Amino acid sequence: MLTPLIAGNWKMNTGVHQGAELVIKLRELIKGVDTADVVIAPPFTSIYHLSHLIADSTIQLAGQNLHWEKSGAYTGEVSAEMLLDAGCRYVIIGHSERRTYFHETGDVVNKKLVAAIRAGLRPIVCVGETLKEREAKKTLSVVSTQLKGALAGLSGGGLKDITVAYEPIWAIGTGAVAAPQDAEEVHNALRELLYETLGAEAARPIRIIYGGSVKADNIDSLMSQPNIDGALVGGASLKAEEFARIVRFR
Ligand code: PEP
Repeated sequence: MLTPLIAGNWKMNTGVHQGAELVIKLRELIKGVDTADVVIAPPFTSIYHLSHLIADSTIQLAGQNLHWEKSGAYTGEVSAEMLLDAGCRYVIIGHSERRTYFHETGDVVNKKLVAAIRAGLRPIVCVGETLKEREAKKTLSVVSTQLKGALAGLSGGGLKDITVAYEPIWAIGTGAVAAPQDAEEVHNALRELLYETLGAEAARPIRIIYGGSVKADNIDSLMSQPNIDGALVGGASLKAEEFARIVRFR
């Protein structure tokens, strides 16, 4: 059994002070809780400050994005090395909002994944289908193509640090969570693909987490599925009590 991962994606929410208040509350609420690895992905501007506030807790930090180069003339970008230096251990890659609003292609997602692994960051790679694709029964082919594209050319030890997040786009921020059995079917297919593509040894430690309107009142049924290894949580991660309840899933 893999240690579950519960990650909170704060997106473009919270200033430095508001983020600090949220972390201080969360830190207290989940003290001694060992159900899951807990990760939060605040905006870049809060990472360094929060790295001090989480120092004596089990919370770890993630970037919400990165650039694949180490440094250079890339105005507005942040590298994997900079995220590590600021206190991150994880990074979210290929979130659907980045694919949709910032036109990230599979090739870009792949470059970012390579860069994260090179630097020693643990990537959380997002895949997911639109409602139209789901209705056309293309879910499995869409998520398989996205995952294969993300993993292209990768091999070696860093693969074990990857987490895959299945996030159906129609469920993100909409309140429309996937039925646990439907999510399980996709997770199972992604797991099989990882085993086929990477081999059993590399695939075994890779967690596959679900994202899309995860809340305190649906986390338990999602986590009861054998291939759901955790959750990527957007809106509900901005409420300390609710996120703490998600972390303490049963
Ligand atoms: C997300 O942003 O990854 C997400 C799943 O958001 P929400 O939980 O708000 O649907």
